[in-house]
Amino acid sequence: KADGRSTFRFYEQSMRLAAERRHILTLELRQALNENQFELYYQPIFTLSDDSISGFEALIRWHHPQRGMVSPAEFIPVAEETGLISGIGQWVLREACLTAARWPKSVKISVNLSAAQFDQAGLLDTVVMALEEAGLEPHRLELEITESIFLSNSRQNIQMLYALRELGVRIAMDDFGTGYSSLSYLRSFPFDKIKIDRSFVSGIEVDTRNLAIIQAVAVLGAGFNIITTAEGVETAQQLSRLRNEHFGEVQGFFTGRPMPAGEADIFIASKTASSARLLNELASSA
Ligand code: C2E
Ligand code: MG
Ligand code: MG
Ligand code: MG
Repeated sequence: KADGRSTFRFYEQSMRLAAERRHILTLELRQALNENQFELYYQPIFTLSDDSISGFEALIRWHHPQRGMVSPAEFIPVAEETGLISGIGQWVLREACLTAARWPKSVKISVNLSAAQFDQAGLLDTVVMALEEAGLEPHRLELEITESIFLSNSRQNIQMLYALRELGVRIAMDDFGTGYSSLSYLRSFPFDKIKIDRSFVSGIEVDTRNLAIIQAVAVLGAGFNIITTAEGVETAQQLSRLRNEHFGEVQGFFTGRPMPAGEADIFIASKTASSARLLNELASSA
């Protein structure tokens, strides 16, 4: 009995500790927004048919004054639960559009949207303002959403997707294949792009089941007339496999890590100069 009680006390204590940590994180996140501790990194995405840069995905980074770089996987969920995501998301959209406006017109920018941002009525205005302020053409902005937006308020969220699409922005389904019913979601909105999750890309050199999934998604994309993008491409072999399967685009550490805006500018300048040979060069250097 005493044992059970101490186990419970331990449980209670760790719960309290977790709640305290979250509370501190919430306060720190609010401060981070005010004190400009966030930065966007940009990861290149390549079109396989001509090896050109299709665009970059904006990925948020938090330079915590004591803890250094904090991963979005750690703080985005907390920002979603506390509502701070709307302010952070606004900053991300603005910053990403301003950066992309400096790039050649053929280079797009992809921005991740949380389901929680769809709960805010102001999302449409936020997107319009970000585009207008930057002077960015809407078709150069792509919004990445995950299946989570279909889990609650799905009717309302789908309406929002259509309203965003009306603006001329593109809509991509991120982390495809990891949710509960990816295929049915694919039917509920005409996505411009599906990004297959990197868990399906890893090991396609040896894992015939993952390769079969990749092949199926390539066929699916062709049938739906949707661009297919493979995330998490880490090796030359994965790249050539994806090429063989006529995948549309690749993104991953092998073809380019996420980098600060200044480096992305240089990356664009150097890659457009050496253009089509880029991926072949990467492949032969590996
Ligand atoms: P995501 O949108 O699926 O982004 C891709 C993640 O995979 C990024 O992690 C990227 O750095 C990582 N990655 C890219 N290539 C490779 C590779 O070859 N190998 C491996 N192992 N990983 C690779 P990151 O930057 O840590 O972001 C994690 C997640 O956080 C993102 O997943 C996205 O869901 C979320 N996130 C990031 N930035 C934002 C943002 O501005 N707003 C929102 N709402 N969510 C964001
Ligand atoms: Mg993404
Ligand atoms: Mg993803
Ligand atoms: Mg993700």
